Amino acid sequence: MPELTQVADPVCPPDGVVIAVGASGMCRSDWHAWKGHDPVALPHVGGHELAGVVAQAGPEVTRWRAGDRVTVPFVCGCGRCEYCLAGDAQVCPWQTQPGFTGPGSFAELVAVHAADANLVSVPDAVDFVAAACLGCRFATAFRAVTAHGRVRRGDWLAVHGCGGVGLSAVMIGAALGARVVATDVAAPALNRARELGAEFTVDAGAADPVAAIGEITGGGAHVSVDALGSPATAACSVRCLRRRGRHVQVGLLLDGPAPLPMDLVVAGELEIYGSHGMAARDYPPMMAMVADGTLRPELLTGRVISLEEAGRALAAMDSPAQGAGMTVIRLPVSLEVSREPVGHL
Ligand SMILES: [Zn+2]
Ligand SMILES: [Zn+2]
Repeated sequence: MPELTQVADPVCPPDGVVIAVGASGMCRSDWHAWKGHDPVALPHVGGHELAGVVAQAGPEVTRWRAGDRVTVPFVCGCGRCEYCLAGDAQVCPWQTQPGFTGPGSFAELVAVHAADANLVSVPDAVDFVAAACLGCRFATAFRAVTAHGRVRRGDWLAVHGCGGVGLSAVMIGAALGARVVATDVAAPALNRARELGAEFTVDAGAADPVAAIGEITGGGAHVSVDALGSPATAACSVRCLRRRGRHVQVGLLLDGPAPLPMDLVVAGELEIYGSHGMAARDYPPMMAMVADGTLRPELLTGRVISLEEAGRALAAMDSPAQGAGMTVIRLPVSLEVSREPVGHL
């Protein structure tokens, strides 16, 4: 059982910040790290979906200062390589991930490297619980639907798998004016998808989703997202496209390579994309839609708990409740931690 204990405060990197955590989402990948599926150095502090207030900034940081309300993508770039300089920190070969490559945000304080490249401003209108929900699933879904999917008003968007990422994609697609068809095998997940904007749902356990989506859309989806990540859903996502359609692979396919029907890719001139998070540079349009209420990530929140309850909640993910929404830890931001000003602050 994960234990709540006192450890040394994180050291502020010269190019980074220490953030006083206001909220931290609890994600299935945290559970995978705890179970040892995704090995981390022990003892370890998990947590990678965070929002809070800058408590301390290193001397090389130019864009941020103590008191700023911020969040970070779950992939933090090095800020120096060709990918980061091109704005693509989400694929930085030297990426760090709080909660995996170092101590994370199930804590009062967390350190983030390369702050100028990785921090995202959180407007006052967006509270920390909502902002913490953006960092992993929601931002990933946003990039999948907008940057790769290039969804336009009136397009048909198919979403395969209605867990956290899938439901985010449903909400984002609907908010952008797409007509959303969501598939899953669980009735509660399909009900949630309808509540969040899916016009049609398909029970993939009862019907062939490819045939059903073809019929609903009159020839296939313009954009399809595999939010689950299985060989079956990946192939299904490609097969349900109309000609010139775009498939976006978001689900991680952790069991290895998945065969795709490349004959259909050629014949229909389909586009195939992989999507891995979203860089800080690409957050502002999404954050603006959250601030004005067009997107409401807080609707994906299930329970809001305290840090004391976090260990038990993580262990409870052994048997996840279907459609329960995301658990978020809320912390009282304690800015007295900035007692040792450093650098230019
Ligand atoms: Zn980099
Ligand atoms: Zn996550």
